[in-house]
Amino acid sequence: MIKTIAVIEGDDAAPEAMKPVVSLLESLNIGLEFVYPEVGEIAEEKTGSVFPDEAKAIIDRADTTFFGSTSGKSGASLMYLRWGKETYANVRPCVYIPGCASPLANPEGIDFAIVRENLEDLYVGVEGPLEDLAPLSLSGRNIRQPIHELGKGRYAIKAITEEGTERVVRFSFELARKRAKTREGSPKVTSTQKHNMLRQSDGLFLDIATEVAKDYTDVEFETYIVDDFACRLIREPQKYDVIVMPNLYGDILSDAAGGLVGSLGLAASGIYGDHYAYFEPAHGTAPDIAGQNIINPTAALLTSTMMLEYLGFSHEAEKIEKAVFRVFAEGAVLTPDQGGNATTTEFIDAVGSAL
Ligand code: ATP
Repeated sequence: MIKTIAVIEGDDAAPEAMKPVVSLLESLNIGLEFVYPEVGEIAEEKTGSVFPDEAKAIIDRADTTFFGSTSGKSGASLMYLRWGKETYANVRPCVYIPGCASPLANPEGIDFAIVRENLEDLYVGVEGPLEDLAPLSLSGRNIRQPIHELGKGRYAIKAITEEGTERVVRFSFELARKRAKTREGSPKVTSTQKHNMLRQSDGLFLDIATEVAKDYTDVEFETYIVDDFACRLIREPQKYDVIVMPNLYGDILSDAAGGLVGSLGLAASGIYGDHYAYFEPAHGTAPDIAGQNIINPTAALLTSTMMLEYLGFSHEAEKIEKAVFRVFAEGAVLTPDQGGNATTTEFIDAVGSAL
């Protein structure tokens, strides 16, 4: 059966990683059809809109979207994929690939997945001048005067909902069960938040996680305050399996996790909702290396394996993953971020040969 993938290649260096990965997927000949919704500047020139209805329709008709990072006007399509499609679970696996340039002395066995809540928290985007809060006359636990009398400044709202938390926590427990089928050790979910300071909002996140955990007695559950957890993650990354957290902590810790195994260029991500999922390497557009054909396409490749898995091509996903691992183990063809001097094209070709 044909599966349709909408491809948005992204900005700066992102297309240099996305294009060869799409070519490699095409070469598998497994019935993948790639369609290209026009978004951003190109769409604006033609239609006056950075995200025209036609592009939206192509995304809606596709089985999934493969998205390169954006720094520009294609951001509107990303907002649609995220809030429009209610993709609430941002899964960022962190796996040590033997041969990669990890800064750790003992990175062997790192294999965890951060599940970042993707729609709520400070990312609801409600910000404004503090003086606008005067009619509410809000006081806080730690301030003497109403918040608008603190001084000239701004506020941002952190929103944590019961429903939003429960679905991402359930997703995490289900993911731990799924991972247990192919992974050594018993499944575990770790929740992390700042519940000692943010007793209402992060306290709710923890309360719901604790409650949901009762439905999954086969999965170990533990929780840590996020600052303590950041230290634990660096010291003993092998101890974790699935780690769930509110949006902002997930944004920060998943990039830090990329550093644990050597580069943002290795960090894949899949963003799942109940009815749609899209797949996007976790790194940005790497503008500083654009046009040089040296961007590491590993993140895009491993992101594509998550996408293949989602589309039902587990076998092919495994094959590509194994090929990537082989190229790293051989160590002869690596991009500069991994201490090598290969180009993106040479790395992809090496993966193709290993396939
Ligand atoms: P954006 O604003 O789009 O997030 P950024 O420059 O803030 O862009 P990244 O694009 O993630 O953030 O880049 C951070 C650093 O990591 C840059 O030096 C970039 O070159 C490097 N980098 C990111 N992705 C890769 C990759 N796939 N291969 C090699 N280097 C990468």
